[in-house]
Amino acid sequence: MKTLITSGKNDLFLHEVADLTPGAGQVVAVPILVGVCGTDLEIINGKINPDYVRYPATIGHEWVGRITQVGDQVDSDLLGKRIVVEGIIPCMECFECVAGSTNRCITYSEIGFTLPGAGAEQVLVPLSQLHVVNDEVSNESAVLVEPTSVVTQGFLKVNPKQNSKVLIIGDGTIALIAARLIRTWNPSLVHMLGLKSEQGDLARHAGADEFLTEPVEMTYDLIVDASGAPSRISDAINQLVRGGSLLLIGFTGFKVPTTMYVDDIVNGDVNIFGSFSYSRKAWKQTVELLNSGKLDLSFLITHRFAFTDFATAVEALRSAPAPRGKIVMEIGL
Ligand SMILES: [Zn+2]
Ligand SMILES: [Zn+2]
Repeated sequence: MKTLITSGKNDLFLHEVADLTPGAGQVVAVPILVGVCGTDLEIINGKINPDYVRYPATIGHEWVGRITQVGDQVDSDLLGKRIVVEGIIPCMECFECVAGSTNRCITYSEIGFTLPGAGAEQVLVPLSQLHVVNDEVSNESAVLVEPTSVVTQGFLKVNPKQNSKVLIIGDGTIALIAARLIRTWNPSLVHMLGLKSEQGDLARHAGADEFLTEPVEMTYDLIVDASGAPSRISDAINQLVRGGSLLLIGFTGFKVPTTMYVDDIVNGDVNIFGSFSYSRKAWKQTVELLNSGKLDLSFLITHRFAFTDFATAVEALRSAPAPRGKIVMEIGL
């Protein structure tokens, strides 16, 4: 089978390896769609923290696939099922895992980072990591479960209230997903603050009432930063109502400072939340929402490429102009 390999030196190539056989408690799945994102670029460029990747790496952590082989101790009814796969493999023994915070597991192992990912014709998946998706869920929605779980994790922390006025900062995939997902909490208003006006249609499709490229003078109950732009984050504090919440899920870059006035935070009785990655609970909740038919993310797929066209897919990730949502590769089945 073919697998997409990088050594982290700005290289990416298809490599032929032996077909996989599942061990006990494992399945082999064939990826249908695989999304690429900025983190994949960091893996390819070697810019990622080396603790989080093993080279040579098979990229691919956002995907939907179909089970084609099951190992011992796995129910054969799973054969042929369409699945999404929680990439982070928690130990389930450390104090964080026991408390349900699998996103903070003290040991780190992740499919597409330290273990071979879904940029391949076959992937080995431990049974504990897979979630079955209903026939009604599109592949285009299912391929977005990983970034959506990151947003779900943040919202689990914030616990958004109904009828809130919400500002989403950013206009990339995570921001667009946040605009769609927050709708399930029935907000009274959703604004999205981005950089490129060409993202406006996608933003409105996602669920934003208005797409802004400059802040407007008003206050919000909840502000979600998915941009990682330090100046936007410092401005956000002054746009919160008293008692409002700021959720940070964007990355500014390593050791990039941002200014916040403590007086504003204290006087404003403001809540600031950082949220890292996703927990198993966030995955379950995201998959349940998709399976219930209450969430559809298909509109977000704007670029599709054949697996063999991986170089064009990565180039699109680097430089395709807006409007741009998620870029995916089509692999099998
Ligand atoms: Zn990603
Ligand atoms: Zn753990």
